[in-house]
Amino acid sequence: MKGIVYTGEGAEVLDGLEVRDAGPGEVVVRIMAAGVCHSDITAASGAFGWPAPAVLGHEGAGIVEQIGTGVTNVAVGDHVIVSTLQACGMCKACGAGKPTRCRSTLGNMAQPFTLDGDPCWNFAAASVFTERTVVRAIQAVKIPDDVPFTSACLVGCGVMTGAGAVLYRSNVEVGQTAVVYGCGGVGLNAIQALRVRRASRIIAIDVDPQKEALARSFGATDFLDGRAADIVDQVRTLVPYKPGELSGPFGAGGVDWVYDVVARPEVTLNALNMLDWGGNVVIIGTPGGDAKFELPYQPFTQNERGVIGCRAGSYSPHTHMPQIIDLYRRGEFMLDELVSATYPLEGFHDAVHDMHEGGVARGVLVLD
Ligand SMILES: [Zn+2]
Ligand SMILES: [Zn+2]
Repeated sequence: MKGIVYTGEGAEVLDGLEVRDAGPGEVVVRIMAAGVCHSDITAASGAFGWPAPAVLGHEGAGIVEQIGTGVTNVAVGDHVIVSTLQACGMCKACGAGKPTRCRSTLGNMAQPFTLDGDPCWNFAAASVFTERTVVRAIQAVKIPDDVPFTSACLVGCGVMTGAGAVLYRSNVEVGQTAVVYGCGGVGLNAIQALRVRRASRIIAIDVDPQKEALARSFGATDFLDGRAADIVDQVRTLVPYKPGELSGPFGAGGVDWVYDVVARPEVTLNALNMLDWGGNVVIIGTPGGDAKFELPYQPFTQNERGVIGCRAGSYSPHTHMPQIIDLYRRGEFMLDELVSATYPLEGFHDAVHDMHEGGVARGVLVLD
């Protein structure tokens, strides 16, 4: 079968892949659609140091084709979203409904594939850029048959990462105010989750002014150009301490939450400076490596501002993915609109190109 393989020098569409059968507690999923996420491109660049060859893709949906012994949560023929969280299901974190903190969910690698007969690695415990993959049953989340695969696949990563940061990592209260810094596939989902949570002010920031219409259509109440040198003052103009007074004592005024999808030092410092007393920056972006930032102590110790990290939206697959699908079916959450273009598997490089050109929320590969 065909797939997009990290060769050690980049990503290539190759034929000659095979996947092994489902073992105990595993399922084979026939992939129908897969979103192209930045992490796949980062992996293809070699920046993760992932072993090669490896089948890329970690945002997918499809149909269960085979189940191993002991699998009870899905049956052959079920439509499923593939989650990358290969959680153990038994540790303290899993018991608390926080599998993004399960020690089994990072760094697991396996070789369930062969490429021209030789062992081939998986990626992010998912490998959905191919016709069939094998995952643990706990990673297969059943969805209703009427949800299009092209929309459902995005729930596998980008949707949960953005929406989950709002819904499951932070307790946004009705009427609170927020900034979403970065309006790509992840940021748009943070924006619409803030709309679901009834935030009163949702300020979108992006360096690409073309993102304004898209951001507003997902629920942003305001849009600011991230290239502006006075971006902090612009936010405070929208959410001032009091009319005509941008900042009160120790920077009072500003927003309750900033979702930092960019995660660069200058952005994170701006984010901190946009906060009201008691506000929090939630770091969503993944700069990787040993990237660092430097922040002053005073906002933390005098004004109870905070910075918290968020991995993959801090979601629990079997609780929260169906919740998003339910919101979608009730017309309260936009998934179809996130799909800006579809491509065949062979169109992977076009999808990446379009993504870099901007204006694309999500390119989706369609397999059939
Ligand atoms: Zn991703
Ligand atoms: Zn666990």
